[in-house]
Amino acid sequence: MNNSFKQAYWDEPLIFELGSRGRRGYIVPEPGEDVKRAVGEIGIPERIRRKKKPQLPEVSEVEVTRHYTRLTEMSYGVDNGPVPLGSCTMKYNPRLGWEVVSDRRVSWIHPLQDEDTIQGLLELLYNLQRWLANIVGMDKCTLHPAAGAHGELTGMLITRKYHVLRGQIGVKREIIIPDSAHGTNPASASMAGFTVVEVPSSSDGNIDLDALRSVVGDSTAGLMITNPSTLGLFEENIGEIVELIHGVDGLLYYDGANLNGIMGYTRPGDMGFDIAHINIHKTFGSPHGGGGPGAGPVCVKDRIVDDERGIRLGDLLPGYIVEYDEDRDRYYLKGPGEYSIGLLKAFFGNTGPLLWGLTYILMLGSRGLRMVTEQAVLNTNYFKKLMEDARGYDIPYGRGRWRKHEVVLSAKPLYDETGVSALDVAKGLLDHGFYAPTIYFPLIVEEALMTEFTESEKLENIEKYADILKRIADTAYRDPEEPHKWPRNTSVGRIDEVKANHPKTLAPTWRIYLMKSKHGEEK
Ligand SMILES: *Cc1c(COP(=O)(O)O)cnc(C)c1O
Repeated sequence: MNNSFKQAYWDEPLIFELGSRGRRGYIVPEPGEDVKRAVGEIGIPERIRRKKKPQLPEVSEVEVTRHYTRLTEMSYGVDNGPVPLGSCTMKYNPRLGWEVVSDRRVSWIHPLQDEDTIQGLLELLYNLQRWLANIVGMDKCTLHPAAGAHGELTGMLITRKYHVLRGQIGVKREIIIPDSAHGTNPASASMAGFTVVEVPSSSDGNIDLDALRSVVGDSTAGLMITNPSTLGLFEENIGEIVELIHGVDGLLYYDGANLNGIMGYTRPGDMGFDIAHINIHKTFGSPHGGGGPGAGPVCVKDRIVDDERGIRLGDLLPGYIVEYDEDRDRYYLKGPGEYSIGLLKAFFGNTGPLLWGLTYILMLGSRGLRMVTEQAVLNTNYFKKLMEDARGYDIPYGRGRWRKHEVVLSAKPLYDETGVSALDVAKGLLDHGFYAPTIYFPLIVEEALMTEFTESEKLENIEKYADILKRIADTAYRDPEEPHKWPRNTSVGRIDEVKANHPKTLAPTWRIYLMKSKHGEEK
């Protein structure tokens, strides 16, 4: 740990160190007779009852408010400025979504409530299923999975089940994934019991078709890709790839994290994919990261699994799916049937982000959703243009090609010539009051700076961003030592990467808390 880091966190008290004995912000009322009676009736066993009072901070309301406000001021998010984290699609979260999800008619609903009392919610979710199916060009969706990676696991389990039901699971063992993929793709495939086969990208950014042909065969269970890829490039040979995989009875899984680059213009279903997930917290504007849970609906084509038994891919979907009974004019939740992969979590999905996503969709309408894509793609290519001849940076893979939602720069020339790395560049951006792009991903780009502005960012900020990147490079060529000392202007200085990532170190704040509580003072 370097000094500025230690200093900043050290001076920042933990909530447990504030206040004093007996100080209160709120006094919990004594339980009434009815509560006492209810507790008596439940009969909480003696052995699990608390023996000691919990050690809670004893603080006033003012202290709590100031403490947490100070912590938020040490942080940064889309409400402070651009967060061009490539692949993450950190767009602005429209406040109307917040209004909808915090409405008591939504937020107070209990998942075990009688269906007759939540017809409104079910109608909204039903409409969302239909919107999503339409947007990705598929036939049936489940809102059940909690995030993109959870959707991937869902898709891989569906792929597995597909082959089980067709009596070929012993043979179909492999999932093919390109080397530009997000790390969750191979992780999901292997969690579902498949062997991952990696295929390289060619220098133009497409999948290397010859390499793909050489690995596709009887053991191919499916292929998992995102299109546009993590390089922001649309896969030009997608038609041929689909034919290859379907030719050996494999399924095509679409990682929908990059939907923001094509929405309204083309659809994974039209490209030939069988299964797709959608990251509501990316494409559809619900908060992402520290801002709450996500949602990763999964949609499938109406593909036949077994003609004799009348099984379709949709029958394999997990969770509760909202259906509409026309005769009774009633919405209802349909639980997993005989061929479903079952449940992957409790209940019918993270309704907060789902409704935020529906709000986003309805605010924009189909024309608006197309405009989102147009603006996101325009922003990316404008930025790419600004950076094309910038000293120190390179744009590998299909340099002359248009990007979709994002572009990956490489700081390799800068690193080779000055020793200043993508990490240093990222820290420099923080000093200028901007958030850094995603760095060192995708793995096939050295010193990667993966930048995605989404539709939210205005022209001036994109120009400023490009300008800062160029100024950082200028500084590096003039004084190659300086960038290693960044950031200087943030509440936390440069963190020791090794210690911060080492399991023994734990998270820095947690470690300090442990040290403080053990020894009572700094060690
Ligand atoms: C974000 C992302 C995922 C995983 O989605 P989560 O919602 O974060 O679980 C998968 N693939 C790509 C390309 C992504 O950007």
